[in-house]
Amino acid sequence: MSYKENGEEIIQKIQDECLSCGQCISECQLLQSIGEDVVEIAERLLSPKEAFSCSLCGLCEGVCPLGLSPRDMFQFMRKKAVAEGTYPIHDYKYMFPDRPLNVMKAYRQVYGVDYQELNPDREGEVAFFPGCTMLTYNPDLIFTSMDYLRKEYKDVTLLTDCCGLPLWQLGLKERWENFTQDLKEKLLKLNVKKVILACSNCYYQLQLLAKELGITLLTIYEALEDSEAFNTPIMKEKILTVHDSCPDRFQGIFAKQTRQALEKKGYQVVEMEHHHEKALCCGSGGQVTHAAPSLAQELVETRLGEVEETNAQILTAYCLGCVLNLSKNQDSIPVQHVLNLLLDFEQEYVGLKKRTQTLFDGPEGEKLWEKVMQD
Ligand code: SF4
Ligand code: SF4
Repeated sequence: MSYKENGEEIIQKIQDECLSCGQCISECQLLQSIGEDVVEIAERLLSPKEAFSCSLCGLCEGVCPLGLSPRDMFQFMRKKAVAEGTYPIHDYKYMFPDRPLNVMKAYRQVYGVDYQELNPDREGEVAFFPGCTMLTYNPDLIFTSMDYLRKEYKDVTLLTDCCGLPLWQLGLKERWENFTQDLKEKLLKLNVKKVILACSNCYYQLQLLAKELGITLLTIYEALEDSEAFNTPIMKEKILTVHDSCPDRFQGIFAKQTRQALEKKGYQVVEMEHHHEKALCCGSGGQVTHAAPSLAQELVETRLGEVEETNAQILTAYCLGCVLNLSKNQDSIPVQHVLNLLLDFEQEYVGLKKRTQTLFDGPEGEKLWEKVMQD
């Protein structure tokens, strides 16, 4: 993923070429709530608040007959608002992965999430890069994945970095560039030649960097294709539906590989109305849960409404952020990460996200929050 520097061109293209067909609007709750023609929006330019209310899901681009991208216009306006100081981005510094303490690091400290026994971040040609969401909220899945990966790649090392996507999504161009440069240097220093990814966000975020460094990216589904767990069928067929993750929308690598692996394992996959390139956002894209929480909640409900229209017994996703967001509701369908199903290791996700909020409750929580936010 790279910053599109030509934001003015993107906006001009929409002004010049948009057919005002409304296809993007009919699929997007944000554009519907703005209530204007896309050309009008491109002409008056977005307010910073509107720019940060977009989940950057890309569905608008996915349905546009001309391939125009309102998403890129929203992303550009985020970057512009940050550069011009018209959006209070530092209110969100608790998310910045390049800070010494942020919410995820605080969570790991408080709940004792630690990977020392895996001897992480050491030199090695093959590295597993689970990404910070899994590193924070699902250490058990990382330990289990590492057990299986070691059978396929004896010396696989674990990398405990963030891919930098939050900085990119928040429009922090310079910080994102510096972060990416540091990550490049680390990968070179550790002599990494192959990176195995479990998160579609990280996969697409690192694609360009990997190309520059001559590193091969593999999804964990390719890496474990021949593993015993992936090839041990389940006892009784179950019906599930796959929630596709927005960054996979255009290349569809995870969508294809996960469905193939799940079907090989014996699951019956049924599709929701929106899937693959037309998938709906789970409500956590673009850090929108922070900037526009009520819109984010509407997205969750819309997605779960589509699940209800299928006869699926399980909802599964290959992005842990989506899994956590879609399992917020206690009484909804069981939600599992695809790896849980393929590695025969089901987990309970309901309530997991709430543990983050309780971190900052009470006097000790307030002190921790002060530390997270201090300059
Ligand atoms: S990226 Fe998604 S939320 Fe943003 S305008 Fe496009 S469809 Fe709407
Ligand atoms: S789908 Fe494309 S052409 Fe149609 S209104 Fe949206 S941006 Fe314009």
